[in-house]
Amino acid sequence: MIDANNANSEEDYANIHVVCPTCKATKDLKIPSKIINQAKQLTTVSIPSGTVCEHGFQSFVDKNFAVRGYQKVDFEFYKMEFYEGGGDSTEADSTTSSLSSKPLFQEIIKLLRGYVDDKEILGSGIFTIDGSVLYSSLPSNTLFSITKEFEVRSEKKLSSLKKMYLELENNQKICSNYIEIQEMRFALVLFFSQIVKLGMGNLYLNDLVKKIKKLEG
Ligand SMILES: [Zn+2]
Repeated sequence: MIDANNANSEEDYANIHVVCPTCKATKDLKIPSKIINQAKQLTTVSIPSGTVCEHGFQSFVDKNFAVRGYQKVDFEFYKMEFYEGGGDSTEADSTTSSLSSKPLFQEIIKLLRGYVDDKEILGSGIFTIDGSVLYSSLPSNTLFSITKEFEVRSEKKLSSLKKMYLELENNQKICSNYIEIQEMRFALVLFFSQIVKLGMGNLYLNDLVKKIKKLEG
């Protein structure tokens, strides 16, 4: 069990100032600063409708927490999402950023996004095994908990693990499955509401792994 209410301090968050590309409404949004700090280039932040205004859109945030561009989107997302890369950043210098710029990765994001339903599955994500975020729609507290957990396991060289289950005090569950994609290891994460039993969560997770393996071809 881990404590989801582990108070995260102010410095864990950064403000980004966003402007809706459609109606120009503005708002300062608090986002986990770690995501921006660990990114090699731009981070795409997807902002659901109802957050700033009636529109949903994406913003590309640089290492100084400044928004460098916006994109209108033609699909709906339900949670704030983060992923590495985006905008017109094309430099693919390292292993993970070369993955995140690939069409395969975009397909994986679509798949992960499709699982989230506001009732049983509250968020999803894919991480490097040492806890860097490649894509996440997890709530901030869950995100902090899981990246911390990955860091610890990575330091203890526990990355030969296949699965990881965490249950929060409010009975929400975080299930993770390590997966090899194009000869690199990643951790898939699904975040379940309290109504989902671990066995059911495990089925969802297995299904997700199967679908990703299929995408990879
Ligand atoms: Zn708007």
